[in-house]
Amino acid sequence: MEIRYPAYYDTFRCIAGACPDSCCKEWAVAVDADAAAFYRTLPGSLGDALREAMCEEDGDTILALTADRRCPMWREDGLCRIQAQLGEDALCHTCRQFPRLRHDYGDFMELGLELSCPEAAKLILSGENAQTVVRQESGVESAEYDPDAMALLLESRKQALDLLDTYRSAPGQALAALLFWGYTVQAQLDGEESADFSAEDALRTAKKIAAPGDAASLLALYQELEILTPAWKQQLEAPQGSSWSAAHIAMARYLIERYWLQAISDWDLICRVKFILASCLTVKLLGGDILVTAQRYSKEIENDADNVDALLDAAYTSPALADIRLLGLLLED
Ligand code: SF4
Repeated sequence: MEIRYPAYYDTFRCIAGACPDSCCKEWAVAVDADAAAFYRTLPGSLGDALREAMCEEDGDTILALTADRRCPMWREDGLCRIQAQLGEDALCHTCRQFPRLRHDYGDFMELGLELSCPEAAKLILSGENAQTVVRQESGVESAEYDPDAMALLLESRKQALDLLDTYRSAPGQALAALLFWGYTVQAQLDGEESADFSAEDALRTAKKIAAPGDAASLLALYQELEILTPAWKQQLEAPQGSSWSAAHIAMARYLIERYWLQAISDWDLICRVKFILASCLTVKLLGGDILVTAQRYSKEIENDADNVDALLDAAYTSPALADIRLLGLLLED
């Protein structure tokens, strides 16, 4: 089986106690069945603490957060009590994997890191070591997708990433052109013949049809979603604004790599393209330190399936995500 991943994937190291946010805050971790069974039989004070902390919610076993919204296994020195006493293998699947992402398509697999981890965010947004590494592993399973649609998505994703490279000094224009490229590919997914695409023509059209940018409507859309932390709420209510930068291009690259192929599940690429554009725009509009804002964005949005689904739906229903509105914001400085 072919495994693909960005070169920075192998350089990630959790900084545990030195982490400025920590994945042991605000999230109630879902414990897989094997780990839950192991924790229930564990002797001693750690076993007692785990049994006290585990509870059932919506059919899942979770570790309920403490009053200060920390994982109950979190220690004052920032380390995990389970890992410190029993080693990494004793962690549940969620904690062992985070922030590593894995998309298994049957005959190939893609790996990545989650932007919601501050240390991973540094690697992703630096834009360095982003080239794809390919390695072979034994154990081939059959493809779990339509081969023609996957071939189109793989090739069109390459071209989407090339667009970012071509317009890397003008991220807003790169993303505006990406919207048109998304529609070109969507038409092919819908069965139309392939059509010529010119980014320059797309940008000329974008400038003609763009409506005045409406940042307030876009941020209001995010205020209607589930909000995890007061810091995010406050940032949405008092955006500082910022200019386009190379880090926004790096964020767009990460999002394209993570979401483009997911259109294989429902053949709906355009809602994912709009999600990518809205994500980069929102981080730009909120401003502040992009490392902090983008990481917080990811924790609030990407790690909440309901929020992602709401934005994918909003791509078709919300005036804030209408093409002409997105283009207006993208083409601002
Ligand atoms: S968020 Fe990332 S760096 Fe921080 S504790 Fe979790 S895995 Fe480690």
